[in-house]
Amino acid sequence: MPIQQLPDTLVNQIAAGEVVERPASVVKELVENALDAGATRVDIDLEEGGIRLIRIRDDGGGIPAGELPLAISRHATSKISSLDDLEEVATLGFRGEALPSIASVSRFAISSRTAAQEHGLRLEVDGGKFAPPQPHPHPAGTTVEVRDLFFNVPARRKFLRAERTELGHIEEWLRSLALARPRVELRISHNGRLTRHYKPARDAGDHVRRVAEALGEEFTSQCLQVEHAGAGLRLWGWVGLPTAARSSADQQYFYVNGRAVRDRTVAHAVRQAYADVLFHGRYPAFVLFLECDPRQVDVNVHPAKHEVRFREQRLVHEFIYRTLHEALASTRAGLAATGGE
Ligand code: ADP
Ligand code: MG
Repeated sequence: MPIQQLPDTLVNQIAAGEVVERPASVVKELVENALDAGATRVDIDLEEGGIRLIRIRDDGGGIPAGELPLAISRHATSKISSLDDLEEVATLGFRGEALPSIASVSRFAISSRTAAQEHGLRLEVDGGKFAPPQPHPHPAGTTVEVRDLFFNVPARRKFLRAERTELGHIEEWLRSLALARPRVELRISHNGRLTRHYKPARDAGDHVRRVAEALGEEFTSQCLQVEHAGAGLRLWGWVGLPTAARSSADQQYFYVNGRAVRDRTVAHAVRQAYADVLFHGRYPAFVLFLECDPRQVDVNVHPAKHEVRFREQRLVHEFIYRTLHEALASTRAGLAATGGE
């Protein structure tokens, strides 16, 4: 076969392979877009575990009428315009890949209106092919509908699991977002029933209420609040007491500048801080936020953006370890007193 330029739809479907693994990845990308647009309320409607329908409606800034076709074009973003911007990026998105990828593997529609516009517009895409935007009544904000995910990619569709399983993955992502954005109201319904309603926190003190809503009071009644700053880093949040340790690592939430990440340096530092207060095979629960200069952390490591790279890995490790080790000192003293160590 001669070398040939691949058609756009196929390029988007290939990119979708990395960005869109299952319905939960679609929900993640769309809710992140809503948060980047400054939404204070996001409604998530699902059918059949998101396989049949994912509809995300937000009250954010909306997309200006003339830009709607660009929103679903590859490498088109309103969030960065230079390498300098990328190095300081504060939004969750920046790659301009999610919407075109999702639209290439589903029956997709986006409707939007900015506060300045009189009318909304709706753009429909079917497996990558789109018709011109049409006028459509819409309140200020954006709605994205994704139907029949992977209808045109049988190999992917085959890997989708039962409705319950896919719904579980979606709820887990939303829990992770809910923990980090207490002021944003999230309403989740599945097959027409409201299944979860995270009410908006009014002030910073209300954050712990959101944590209790997301993780249950078993966590908030058995945790320590931590906060420590220094060396250009700030770590704060809640760490579970050793007595509340779990049999799996299912309640471990770590955010770097507001983005949920999985990172080996972080995981190792936390494990080490708990090493002498936990039995083997027990896992701590925690919700921790690390804040640092965005230039100190590279978020452009993987298209799905769950991974980061710290410029000063050892400094970050030491900082997390020290902070948590000290926070847990009181529990260590308690253990020694009862001879439990
Ligand atoms: P990225 O988030 O990386 O910029 P996306 O493909 O997710 O790329 O979105 C493309 C663009 O469409 C965004 O940069 C933004 O300008 C616009 N957009 C997408 N979703 C929304 C939304 N819910 N509200 C406002 N603008 C949006
Ligand atoms: Mg995005």
